[in-house]
Amino acid sequence: MRFASWRWGGVDHVGLISPDGREATPLACRDAAAGVLPLIESLARGEPLPPAAGPRLPVSAITLRAPLPKPRRNLFCVGRNYRAHAAELAGTVFRDSLPKEDTWPIVFTKTPETVIGPFDTVRLPGRAVTEQIDYESELAVIIGRHGRDIPRGRAMDHVFGYTVVNDVSARDVQVRHQQWDLGKSFDTFCPMGPWIVTADELDGRDTRVRGYVNGELRQDGHTRDMIFDIPTLIETCSRGITLLPGDVIATGTPSGVGMGFTPPRWLRAGDVFKVQIDGIGAIENPFR
Ligand code: MG
Repeated sequence: MRFASWRWGGVDHVGLISPDGREATPLACRDAAAGVLPLIESLARGEPLPPAAGPRLPVSAITLRAPLPKPRRNLFCVGRNYRAHAAELAGTVFRDSLPKEDTWPIVFTKTPETVIGPFDTVRLPGRAVTEQIDYESELAVIIGRHGRDIPRGRAMDHVFGYTVVNDVSARDVQVRHQQWDLGKSFDTFCPMGPWIVTADELDGRDTRVRGYVNGELRQDGHTRDMIFDIPTLIETCSRGITLLPGDVIATGTPSGVGMGFTPPRWLRAGDVFKVQIDGIGAIENPFR
């Protein structure tokens, strides 16, 4: 199934998107302003899927919001998780923080307020704040069942589904503060959507992630090339921390980021970045 959040007729709705991505059916969900999160929580409690609450609409007639427009807490994000991406940063200021395969993933967070809809505008903070805006096409895992100390072998049982994010990054700010959170957490720096595809329809361990700047293919990776796979990421993030339904783990970006070019190719006002993931769909966001 594909769960989405949208605005239509001046009201927020949550519902199902048809397999071809063309039709939206609203469901009788409470607190639709919170997106799909209350539904994920009710399904985790074993409650049934709510009934339809209105006629089907063409997706072209609705305004898609982020499926999780305001996550309950910070998004877990994984750094440097594709081999080719780690290699392209080996010549940059990040060369000293490359993960080794026998150690641990890099994990940082983005604040919930970074999240915007799949076609919303990313607002650049201004040159006084940052001059090095970069893009990161990523598969995001949505947790569906709470758990702590989840072993790799049972990790996939905790996945509700998957969505697409752009982990927009200010590289100069990341470097300036040692910790990455500030450079990753500017308002609007996490476009998300267009919906959540449930884990029974897509195996996030086996899909293709692409990113385009103004239509030019820059990133083209496959999730099987992750250094730390999805079960390992869930195991890691749940060590002593209870993961909750609706938690988001952004799994890292493939090679081809702007920072990896010589000279770097930073995003500028007027650029449009599109992330496409096979089996889910695409998000496309202008930068202003
Ligand atoms: Mg990232």
